Amino acid sequence: MSNTTLTYGPTSKAVSAVVTIGERATLAPTNSDLWKLLGDDAKNTVEPLVESKTDVITSFVKSGDTRVQHTFAHLGKERTRHTGVIRSDLVHDLVAAQTPKEGDVKIVLALENKEQVLSAGAAVARAFPLYNKKSSAQKLKPRIVNVEISGGGGNIPTAEQYRQLGNIADSIRLAARLTDMPCSELNTTTYIAEVKEAIKDVPTIKAEIISGEELKTRGFGGIYGVGKAAEEPPALVVLTYTPEKKTIENKPVFVGKGIVYDTGGLSLKSGAGMCGMKGDMGGSAACLGAILAAAKNGYGGSLTALLCLAENAIGHKAQRPDDIVTMYSGKTVELNNTDAEGRLVLGDGVAYASRDLKATHIIDIATLTGAQLMNTGKKHAAILSRDEDFERAVYAAGQASGDWVYPIIYAPEVLKKEFESKFADMRNSVGDRANAQCSCAGHFVESHLEEGWGGKWVHVDIAGPAHKEQKATGFGVALLLDVLEKI
Ligand SMILES: [Zn+2]
Repeated sequence: MSNTTLTYGPTSKAVSAVVTIGERATLAPTNSDLWKLLGDDAKNTVEPLVESKTDVITSFVKSGDTRVQHTFAHLGKERTRHTGVIRSDLVHDLVAAQTPKEGDVKIVLALENKEQVLSAGAAVARAFPLYNKKSSAQKLKPRIVNVEISGGGGNIPTAEQYRQLGNIADSIRLAARLTDMPCSELNTTTYIAEVKEAIKDVPTIKAEIISGEELKTRGFGGIYGVGKAAEEPPALVVLTYTPEKKTIENKPVFVGKGIVYDTGGLSLKSGAGMCGMKGDMGGSAACLGAILAAAKNGYGGSLTALLCLAENAIGHKAQRPDDIVTMYSGKTVELNNTDAEGRLVLGDGVAYASRDLKATHIIDIATLTGAQLMNTGKKHAAILSRDEDFERAVYAAGQASGDWVYPIIYAPEVLKKEFESKFADMRNSVGDRANAQCSCAGHFVESHLEEGWGGKWVHVDIAGPAHKEQKATGFGVALLLDVLEKI
């Protein structure tokens, strides 16, 4: 486990190193907001950086009786149309590269404006992953990394804003930790134990677990079929948050793909293609993290998170290609690829959200398709929505949160032929892989929404941005939270 506790807000605790990140202009000795946080000791060391001679400066500065390592790092400013309110990716990289591995550290973000606080603050959390089984890491002494923020123009976050940011960061780190855990540690049963542990001090969240044979009897054929061959049973975890004082009438529901391991099932993946499939539950981890932070931060509306948990294993009970599954929606699906399992569990989730929970907004989030990377790359999730306003709101939430997203084509009438089946309502995998596969996968999920349901739906495919260089990023937590702000 990591040795780092991450905190946000002012502290007078002595540190061995200070890492300050910002644009050249915001790092200048004339930025009084910043130097109020830093003290004047290091003021003269930053000059070469402000004068554009270098991008990173590290020097030791005497502070009382001790020497403190001060690092100033220039944040690349290049931003065009779809890279957010700040380059959150570069904040993540710089913090990871410049923060010493040992000792208490203060990180200071010298921002241009207060709109950048969420994105930059969340990016710092991504730079301190919790899961680490290296024996060398176990020997490191526990330490605190504390984050303080200068929001430009006299904007320093309030104590409440810092508290909320700390909760968001904790959730991002939790989501990333669960996603990084191998299936030998995080199976469906231990995942549920983690969920219960995470909510035990949050009385506003209640959990209902529908698992194993109960899924079958209650009609969750998608989740049950995917998970039935595994040693640990599949489960639908229903997390319900009820605010102490309700101020928002919307009833949003998050639906997360929680495949704790994806072998591909009998449509078995290749050896190399299977590595990393422990992370196929990143969408559900984002939902868990988001509902936790929403509750701790006092979100004013009801909120539900559905974690669709299953291990897509092989064995004598495994579902086969050609099998026909009846989904919770009542629709039948002829399996032509057991590796297209995420959409089966999500289909049950969105059906439950629209029919039983009568959600006003459904946001399903999943590491769903390799095709997402072809569409929108490694840093932007793909979003698919039938509602243009909602699509714009989710795009804006991505820009603000640093979990960037970009829309893909919405055209079910053109694409549904990809799922045509001779025997059932549909198949689960496309006929032509060169025909907007990422959109098709989302349309499959959409086809299980309750007919006539009048709410708004968006599908978020995070196959690429859920990881960076094999490590989980906790992608989606900040996005989902900001979506709540925008609906
Ligand atoms: Zn799969």
